[in-house]
Amino acid sequence: MTEPKSRKEYEEKLRKNTAYANDKLSCTMPCPFCAEPGFATYRITEVDETLSKGAVCKYCFRGMRTLKIDHKHGVTEMRFIQTEGPEPGPYAPELDRDS
Ligand SMILES: [Zn+2]
Repeated sequence: MTEPKSRKEYEEKLRKNTAYANDKLSCTMPCPFCAEPGFATYRITEVDETLSKGAVCKYCFRGMRTLKIDHKHGVTEMRFIQTEGPEPGPYAPELDRDS
């Protein structure tokens, strides 16, 4: 595993490692921290249920789960929270942490 060296490299790797099933109904997302492939697979219609349980990257050992927050007026926010592992590199977006 090689960590990206820049935001540009990170974003290119994220794009390259995002895989949709042939029917486009499920997606395998890369690690949100190091962008290596195979972080989590979810049905498009069940993205909240699947990602709220969390996943851990087998390359960098960082974990992430989502937290859905319902605001007023039907506005829903999806927050990404880092659950474990070391701080991500400066190229990756900074996430809230569980602890
Ligand atoms: Zn990773």
